[in-house]
Amino acid sequence: MINLVLFGPPGAGKGTQSEKLIKKYGFVHISTGDLFRWHTKNDTPLGKRVKEIMNSGALVPDEITIAMLKEELDKNPKAKGFLFDGFPRTVPQAEALDKFMKDNNSAIHYVIALEVTEAEVRARIAKRRTVENRADDEEEKLNKRITEYFTKTIHVLPYYEKQKRLNTVHGIGDIEEIFENICKVIDQQ
Ligand code: ADP
Repeated sequence: MINLVLFGPPGAGKGTQSEKLIKKYGFVHISTGDLFRWHTKNDTPLGKRVKEIMNSGALVPDEITIAMLKEELDKNPKAKGFLFDGFPRTVPQAEALDKFMKDNNSAIHYVIALEVTEAEVRARIAKRRTVENRADDEEEKLNKRITEYFTKTIHVLPYYEKQKRLNTVHGIGDIEEIFENICKVIDQQ
């Protein structure tokens, strides 16, 4: 069983690469962003709590996020392997994830960080916005998400680096080539 964290800023291509990885390796995909969107769309009690926070582009508090993640893990006791996408976004989340894995006699085997500069993600998102013709408030929200990544989430990288679990893959260029480079990391075992 291989468990993987795919890490990177908004617009880094995590969604695109996740899809390809799931197809190839059969991971159970756990995207905290998707889970939160499901809750807000279905207006669950959790959805009601996080809706405004998400709309502002800010991070949902760790306590809520970690509880939701634990629930999701417990739903999949027989998973062949997990691909975590959008989690962990803070050091306490990374610590909680390690604990959950350990409690299940497992571990996070690979952390793959898609390396994309802030300028590149801003350019990609600006381009996507003109194509999709998004509203102005959407622009503010995206800016906030990028800022949250480069001020808060980036601190998760040294956590994994210290434990020698961090693998960096250059995230700019051909999608297939980036995918191959991710697969090389996974297949190196
Ligand atoms: P992005 O498209 O910016 O990568 P996601 O789709 O992963 O974002 O998540 C959307 C929103 O959900 C985030 O802006 C945040 O409010 C919330 N969220 C998702 N994952 C987490 C997390 N691990 N910790 C805190 N908040 C989260």
